[in-house]
Amino acid sequence: MRTDTAPTILRQDYLPYPFRIPTVDLAFDLAPDLTQVHSRLTVERIHPEAAPLVLNGEALSLISIRIDGRLLSPEDYQLDDHQLTLHPDKPAFTLEIISTCRPAENTSLMGLYQSGHSLFTQCEAEGFRRITWFADRPDVMSRYTVTLRADKTQFPHLLSNGNLLQEQPLSDGRHEATWEDPHPKPSYLFALVAGDFDCREKTITTRSGRQALLQVYCDKGDYPRTAWALDCLERSVLWDESRFNLELDLDRFMIVAARDFNMGAMENKGLNIFNSAYVLADAQTATDASFEAIESVIGHEYFHNWTGNRITCRDWFQLSLKEGLTVFRDQEFSADMMARGLPDNAALSARTVKRIDDVTALRTAQFPEDAGPMAHPVRPDSYQEIGNFYTATVYEKGAEVIRMQHTLLGESGFQAGMAEYFRRHDGQAVTCDDFVNAMDSVYRQLAPGKDLTTFRRWYAQAGTPRVSVDLKHDAQAAQCVLTLSQRCDPVGVEKLQNPAVAKPPLHIPFALGLLGADGSPVLLETDGLKGETLVLDLTQTTQTWVFKNIAQRPVPSLLRNFSAPVIVEYNYTDEELALLARKDPEPFSRWEAGQSLATRCLLAMASKQGQSNTTKAATDLLAATWADIANDASLSPAYKARVFSLPSERVLLEKMSPIDPPALAQARRALRQYLGETLQDTWQTLYDNMCAALDGQDYRPDAASAGARALKNSALTYLVAATVTGALARAERQYYDADNMTDRMGGLTPLVNHAPDDVKARVLAHFYDQWQANPLVIDRWFALQATASSTTVADIQALMAHPAFTLRNPNRARSLVFQFCLNNIQGVYCEAGYAFWAEQVIALDQINPEIAARLARAFDHWARLVPKERQAIKLQLEKIMQRPSLSRNVYEIISKALTL
Ligand SMILES: [Zn+2]
Repeated sequence: MRTDTAPTILRQDYLPYPFRIPTVDLAFDLAPDLTQVHSRLTVERIHPEAAPLVLNGEALSLISIRIDGRLLSPEDYQLDDHQLTLHPDKPAFTLEIISTCRPAENTSLMGLYQSGHSLFTQCEAEGFRRITWFADRPDVMSRYTVTLRADKTQFPHLLSNGNLLQEQPLSDGRHEATWEDPHPKPSYLFALVAGDFDCREKTITTRSGRQALLQVYCDKGDYPRTAWALDCLERSVLWDESRFNLELDLDRFMIVAARDFNMGAMENKGLNIFNSAYVLADAQTATDASFEAIESVIGHEYFHNWTGNRITCRDWFQLSLKEGLTVFRDQEFSADMMARGLPDNAALSARTVKRIDDVTALRTAQFPEDAGPMAHPVRPDSYQEIGNFYTATVYEKGAEVIRMQHTLLGESGFQAGMAEYFRRHDGQAVTCDDFVNAMDSVYRQLAPGKDLTTFRRWYAQAGTPRVSVDLKHDAQAAQCVLTLSQRCDPVGVEKLQNPAVAKPPLHIPFALGLLGADGSPVLLETDGLKGETLVLDLTQTTQTWVFKNIAQRPVPSLLRNFSAPVIVEYNYTDEELALLARKDPEPFSRWEAGQSLATRCLLAMASKQGQSNTTKAATDLLAATWADIANDASLSPAYKARVFSLPSERVLLEKMSPIDPPALAQARRALRQYLGETLQDTWQTLYDNMCAALDGQDYRPDAASAGARALKNSALTYLVAATVTGALARAERQYYDADNMTDRMGGLTPLVNHAPDDVKARVLAHFYDQWQANPLVIDRWFALQATASSTTVADIQALMAHPAFTLRNPNRARSLVFQFCLNNIQGVYCEAGYAFWAEQVIALDQINPEIAARLARAFDHWARLVPKERQAIKLQLEKIMQRPSLSRNVYEIISKALTL
């Protein structure tokens, strides 16, 4: 808890730790109320001078300290709430510390905590210091041996990292297990689990012929819902061997599902601990989106075994070294899984669907972050609380920065760069620069005269760059002159500190093509490049390219496959966008053009000129374009479902100035209704066709059938939104008849948003009755109501009084409070909404600061809202700031927001 102002940690202040700790021996006497930890460290001085040994510790009670067996007295050390400082007089010694902690009281879910009847740990970033005093930083790597002792009936499973050395009963009704991890690791990768679980397992043979045991542990009774997770884990192992040449380095790899968990999952060496939402799935309880998310998160954590665990971060400023790279790897894994077994064209379409989803996620979370008070580079320069920097910028933009290197080097060059990275740094704690150095060494060989010097600025510079495009056509010379200009405006605190700052240009790989007036691709030639898609190296503020042999003025297809995380500015006509949406052979840009046209319609409708004839012409053109796309047999249902998803409110808000959320919500509803009515027959046909295509099949979560369900449910939503006769009845029938959760939710969602109150109440009561024993399904029930357009603050308060609600469980808090504050534009943008949000931030901060800090960011964009809303939010920000015992996490978020 904050006592005065929190100190700011600076990247430039990094100093190596003055000691090595080669081995760590931990013995736990585990009990929820009081756990005793006996830690024995071997310590060696590296630094020649008399630097003290400073160890981190929080919420611990000290019993004793010994150096080489000698008991220290209180005058031998200094101890405060955060640090233990010792003054050893020998170059090498054994340090023993006995301490206790209280798992049952630990609601922060960092360190050792209780969830249900089991005990779990979460140590990244700084949780290990809540277990024992230690040099809790990623560049101190040690070999761990861990002995766990606990009651045998309550905790029959005792798990930790690495290999099980021995297990034996003790005389007092307890038992003990000893684990040894052969790989040196930083403390943030330590884990233990104690509880009574079901376990699904499988032995596989790795590429080199070794046997490895894969295990998925879950609460008793959840066993039937673990088959998909184990399957995903096995596919992850195989994929990392085949695509990245990286083999599992352990005899045993465990995943354990926890009901209470702050994040998605954690990659502890050999013992991944997961939020149960990313493990448990079957047709009855999980949607297609959940199956996909489980595959992605299991892949992600498994891939960390090399990118994160074998090579880790030198300090937390380098977090994107492991996260950006591993997100890129999990995105590629998912794309490869979706495309596997498909012919080329279908495979491209499947990969593009994944790319669309990833770019949408980036624009929903990262673009706003990069424009708000928390804007920071992929490699931040400072922080007050590292828990606040597990951000979309570090993860998603970090992954785009890796993807651009992949684009510049190509697949084989990138893999050569990865091999070089492991050759140089396996077993080390390194920096983002070290990674780029390895890639650069390969790039220089592949592209003589080029290097990644300018490219490195992506790691140092905050803000979303803008690339403006000028295309001039000279009919006489039959050539096009293309000029690309880049700029990156000051963001967040930069605006106050140095509004005139001129940021240097970045190295932007800019992929583009040109289409003729009939939509056919034009063969391009410039700078020795030739093809229908060229990747131009934009490295200066302004650059020009000339394309010859182009008789007629073409339509540019820009930033194909989203080749860089930038905003493109080009003045398309509506007709040009419609042409691209119908004809662009590159599927990402084709989708993008349709989204741009829809965005124009929505922004015009949300503005005062919304009713003009030009807006009417644009919405008519959008409807006609969608009708053509619906009839295009070459496009997959999954792709069409993405085309027919209107841009999200959070994405659109970023494009308004000033931001007017209620006007936007209204425009979005009106456009959905208009498209529902205008294309009524189209939706009807799509719905019937998709039902027929899926008819008679057992549920499978594969990409093709998930795509068919997505399109079917999208069509149903438009039919209901347009109040087409019989549509509500059809939705209700689908809800009751569904044999899987995707279709059940596909029927329920439009009912909750559009049906009369009595119908709505009936289906919601039925849903609750049916699923009340399954917490993950009940999370859906809360989330659905939290986001329904008619839901008010009073409704949310009533739901918070429901016996199934608790703020202490992060999934439950996210399903109701976060969903309302972040995703219910209609309900939350009002004085009562802002006051509710502030109350919940304050309440959560007493329980779990990390979760509270995430909620505290719901109105990051407050300074760009229309004046009335701005004032109302500012009042609440100030109210939170006045709380005397604010956590460092929330303090950092709110104080930064108030600087704007
Ligand atoms: Zn990760």
